[in-house]
Amino acid sequence: MRKTLSVILFALALAAISAAQQTSAASHFDGNSWWAHVKFLADDSLEGRDTGSEGLRKAQTYAVGQLQKAGLEPAGTNGFYQPVHFSQYEVDEAKSSLALVSNGQAKPLSFADDAFISSRSTRASANLSAPLVFIGYGLKIPEKNLDELAGLDLKGKIVVYLAGSPSDIPTALASHYQTPGERWKSLHAAGAIGTITIYNPASMDIPWSRISVNRNHPSMDLADPEFYETPGLQLAIACNPASAEQLFAGSAHTFAEIAALGKDRKPLPHFPLAVSLKANAVIHTKSLESANIAAKLTGSDPALKNEFVVLSAHIDHVGIGASINGDRIYNGAMDNGSGSALVMDIAASLKAHPEKLQRSILFLLVTAEEKGLLGSKYFAAHPTVAPKSIVADVNVDMFLPIVPLKVLKIEGIEESDLGTRAAAIAQSMGVKPIPDPEPLRNAFIRSDQYNFIKKGVPSVKCDVGFELGTPEQKIFKDWLTNRYHAPSDDVNQPVDLQAAALYEEFTRRLLLGTANTPAPPHWKPDSFFRRYAAD
Ligand SMILES: [Zn+2]
Repeated sequence: MRKTLSVILFALALAAISAAQQTSAASHFDGNSWWAHVKFLADDSLEGRDTGSEGLRKAQTYAVGQLQKAGLEPAGTNGFYQPVHFSQYEVDEAKSSLALVSNGQAKPLSFADDAFISSRSTRASANLSAPLVFIGYGLKIPEKNLDELAGLDLKGKIVVYLAGSPSDIPTALASHYQTPGERWKSLHAAGAIGTITIYNPASMDIPWSRISVNRNHPSMDLADPEFYETPGLQLAIACNPASAEQLFAGSAHTFAEIAALGKDRKPLPHFPLAVSLKANAVIHTKSLESANIAAKLTGSDPALKNEFVVLSAHIDHVGIGASINGDRIYNGAMDNGSGSALVMDIAASLKAHPEKLQRSILFLLVTAEEKGLLGSKYFAAHPTVAPKSIVADVNVDMFLPIVPLKVLKIEGIEESDLGTRAAAIAQSMGVKPIPDPEPLRNAFIRSDQYNFIKKGVPSVKCDVGFELGTPEQKIFKDWLTNRYHAPSDDVNQPVDLQAAALYEEFTRRLLLGTANTPAPPHWKPDSFFRRYAAD
């Protein structure tokens, strides 16, 4: 209690100091309309806006109403909506089991405490026994001559790896190869049939107890088989690092040694484990429907108006889950009521204060981000505007105005001239732009911009940031530990309305600058992500 209170008081004190400095730049926004939208979206009556739920439909009806009121035109396939079909997967733990086998002795694993079956990647019931091989971070990155699978026999094996990457791999590259689909490509080619991911204690956003308590929440994927990324993956398991030592029993290594190396992102050894896994996974499936929302503001330039700058944010959250402190509704006020509210606010501001707009702006509120960036994945594959017409994506997800906006973290800052533009605009507003100071969190691939990047579209995601070693770093760390994907990410938390307003003004300027510059954004010549652009 005391700790929380002092953090709040500290944040309020900082907010008061900075408010005076920040008002001048925040000319189109005051934070109040933003907060009003957040309050609507994060109300208990919307029950955490789970994909496919009535609560999300209510949020979407509200959002469409706001976009209409702002004078935007519908840009979906069904008015403002683009329907999306999903399959849902749920583990039946009562009928499932996991055990480690050594010298013919089976030792059962506890789903709650040791390791659980991930329904995100386990798509069908499976009953199997297989040897285990530890493969370090489990990465094969040809660009850096890294092949952690080299020399190992993985045929018919379940691979065990520590989440993370070695420090000599650049963030964006490491993030890319750690997506489930990319990682599985090389594992599948090597003959593996399953995975055990040991969470990296050095990079866990939330403690195991909170991950585990919601492990039985069903997962989803896009129903269309064109989107299936892990063929041949029979079983995927998430392992508590506190229980990982037993996997290494009888091998020449300990998990303590692996975790110590992983903490500093040092290279890891690779070796067969002495124990094997016996698993029975019972999976139930069903179909669901949800929708993306798309609206546009048409530019005035005869040629450039056929090009779109996308402003995207996910409007879904994780719904109702395990009770924490007597609360079961995961309201998702910051994640991502905050970004959805910003989309509505910017739409309204562009109507109230029209600017010359040469390119068009596409306002996109996607569904099922929390299920694995699925709504944006569907949209990027089946855009409601001409596929080649999208020139940039500015994605806003949980931008966290919980301290004054003095530092802006720009994911993608070094990858494209959109990143350069974002940095210059921040600087012009007295805000210091920085790259992601915490590359281990993999943030660059953890939100919807990634689906645009994979289609070749220069993208950025910006957040209120902090510098390492400052008191703000602790405020963000505490926020992740206590509120991220928890019922307490609700409207009873302290937020800095000035910071929100300044962030909105930044986003507005970035959109307008990008829409009104003759040349569209380009990837930097040395950007890894340039490979996706067909130029
Ligand atoms: Zn989230």
